[in-house]
Order: sequence, then C-alpha cells, then structure tokens
Amino acid sequence: MRSSSTSHMTRRRLMGTALAAGSHALTFGVRPGFSQTRGSFSLPPLPYAEDSLAPVISGKTISLHYGKHHKAYVDNLNKAVEGTDLKDSSLEDIVKAAFGDHRRAAIYNNAAQAWNHAFYWKSMQPNGGGPPAGVIADCIKDSFGDYAKFRQEFTTAATTQLGSGWVWLVRGQGKKLVVLKTANVDTPIVRGTTCLLTCDVWEHAYYLDYQSLRLDYVNAWLDKLVNWEFASQQLAA
Ligand code: FE
Repeated sequence: MRSSSTSHMTRRRLMGTALAAGSHALTFGVRPGFSQTRGSFSLPPLPYAEDSLAPVISGKTISLHYGKHHKAYVDNLNKAVEGTDLKDSSLEDIVKAAFGDHRRAAIYNNAAQAWNHAFYWKSMQPNGGGPPAGVIADCIKDSFGDYAKFRQEFTTAATTQLGSGWVWLVRGQGKKLVVLKTANVDTPIVRGTTCLLTCDVWEHAYYLDYQSLRLDYVNAWLDKLVNWEFASQQLAA
C-alpha cells in the first residue's frame, strides 16, 4: 500500500483505514495492510496477541514465525527493491511484476512471502474455526457440494504439498471457490484469483507444536482458528 497515493488506495478499495501514529502510513483495510513510507515497507501488526491462538498454535511459534520469519521477508524485500524501478510500487504490484523474472527472484521471493504471511495472519482468529455461515457457506456448498467435501479437499491439499508451501481457498475466474496449493513462496495473486483464506504449511508454521504431524495442525487450524469473517470480506471486496 502506498501511503502517498490516494488514487492507489481507491483502486484497492480500502475500507476502515487507520492512520498510524506519527506517520503518513495508512494500514489495514479489508486487504492485508502494509505500511510503506518513503519506499520502505514495515511489518504489519498482528491482528491479535501472539499467545492468543494457543493451544492450537503456541505463542512461541507465532513469536518466531511473525517476529523472525515474516520480519525477515519484509526486511529483505526492502533491501531487494532499493534502487530499483519497483521501489515505489505497491506490494501486490511488486509481486506481479517480479513473478517469473529470474533477475528479480530475490524481490519476488520476499515480496510474495511478505504478502502471503500478512494474509495468513488474517486468515486466523482466536476462537475461530468450524463450518462457515451466511453467503460464504452457500458458496462452499455450490462449489464443493458440502462443507465436509471442502474440508477434505483442503486437508488433502495440505498433506500432499511436498515440502514447503501454502494451501488456499480462492475464488477462480469462473466464480466458483477452489482449493489450491502453492509451493515454497508462490502465491495465487499472480494468477488473477481472489484469495479468501490461506494456511501456511511450511514446517516453521507448526513444527514446534505438532512436529511432523502436518495433518493434525491443519485439522486444528480448520476446526479452531479459521477466520470465515475475513474470507467473507474478501468475497465481498
Ligand atoms: Fe511462514
């Protein structure tokens, strides 16, 4: 998000923006918020306390994941874009511009991970989880048959993603909801899809709490953390 461009914010349909104290940085709309002042991105605040997702995800895991891993992606992105023509672009535009360009691999890798992680934090909430209600529940039924079939697709995608990656619920170009998995840093935003939810299945997301039991992590994530209100907001945006 560019702090200096009203037109840019309008295009991105920001809602409920908040003015960061002491700066011109606007952060947090319906989309993941990124504070960017004078060409530099900063780590967006977590939407909840680090220990508030426990015991499903421990405060120690969130502290490392957010405070070390996510922060490193943001810091490395700032170094990678310094002095390039992408320095003043929005995060989404940087991801799209650098995608597939091996000369800009460092920019793409860190920008994509900065975006993916901000989206992941918002895809969860304390006391979340379980089947959705309202319009998104109807969309799940129309797209998958029922919630159980969606759930099965999501957990299968998570457990069949070899190595690091992400599992997503997206709205495809045909308007149906689809479960996708992406490897390593890859993100569906380069494909023109609207992302609704994501679950990080890199080991750093769950290993301290679940060791190698990725399925247990994803089951708990779906049953106790998933933020359907956020997904509904993405659907409506
Ligand atoms: Fe991660």
